[in-house]
Amino acid sequence: MSKTALVLFSGGQDSTVCLAWALDRYDRVETVGFDYGQRHSVELEARRTVRAKIAEGFPDWAGRLGEDHMLDLKGFGEVADSALTADRAIEMTEKGLPSTFVPGRNLAFFVYAAALADRRGLRALVGGMCETDFSGYPDCRRDTLDAVQAALNLGMAQDFVIETPLMWLTKAETWALARGLGGTGLVEIVRTDSHTCYLGERRTLHAWGHGCGTCPACELRARGWEAWVAAGRPTLGPESRP
Ligand code: ZN
Repeated sequence: MSKTALVLFSGGQDSTVCLAWALDRYDRVETVGFDYGQRHSVELEARRTVRAKIAEGFPDWAGRLGEDHMLDLKGFGEVADSALTADRAIEMTEKGLPSTFVPGRNLAFFVYAAALADRRGLRALVGGMCETDFSGYPDCRRDTLDAVQAALNLGMAQDFVIETPLMWLTKAETWALARGLGGTGLVEIVRTDSHTCYLGERRTLHAWGHGCGTCPACELRARGWEAWVAAGRPTLGPESRP
C-alpha cells in the first residue's frame, strides 16, 4: 500500500521543512494552504515558489509531489480576529498569549485538512507545529494534536495520523534537518524562498532570509539560524525521531 500524506503548507520555514520531510518518506504528497484573510499575500506567493523550486531541484521528490490545494477560510478569519488578520499591534495579551495567536486556528486547519485528506485518500496529516522555542500557542502542543487526531478519527471513522516532525526540535535543529533532508540546496530554498515575517517584509535578504528583522517571527528565525551557523551548520538525519 502506498504511503500518502497531506502537508499543511504555508510557505514558511517550518512547513517547507515538513514538506521536504514528507517527500523523503511518503510515496505521494499533496499540500494544502489556508487563506484566512492574512494581511499579506506574500505567504501565498512563497508557497508557489517553494513548491516550484523543490520540484526543480529534487527530481526524486518532484515525482511524489502531487496537487496543491488552497482552501478559503476567510469566514474563520473574520470570527477569530487577531493581529495576523486585522490591523492590530503584536503584543502580549492578558492571558499571556501573543496577540498573533488566532484562537482555534490549528483546530480549524486540521478539520479542513482531514476532510480534504478523506476525499483525496491521504492518510498522514503533516504539520510544522513545535513546542520547542515555543511562542506559547496552546494549539501547537502535541497534547492538543493528539486530542485532535482522536477526535478526527472518531468523528470521520478514519485512521489519520497527525505527524509533527518539528515538535521537539529547536529552530537551529530545523535548519540542521533541512540540510539532512536536502543538503545545502534545500537550506538555500528555505533561506531565500520561505516566508516567516509577520509584517510581510520581503525587501531585505538577511543571512537567515527575508523579513523585517524585528517581529517575533523574524527574531526566532534569526536566532535559530545564528545558533545553527555557530554550531558549524550540523546535519540532522531525516530518520531522527523525538
Ligand atoms: Zn518580521
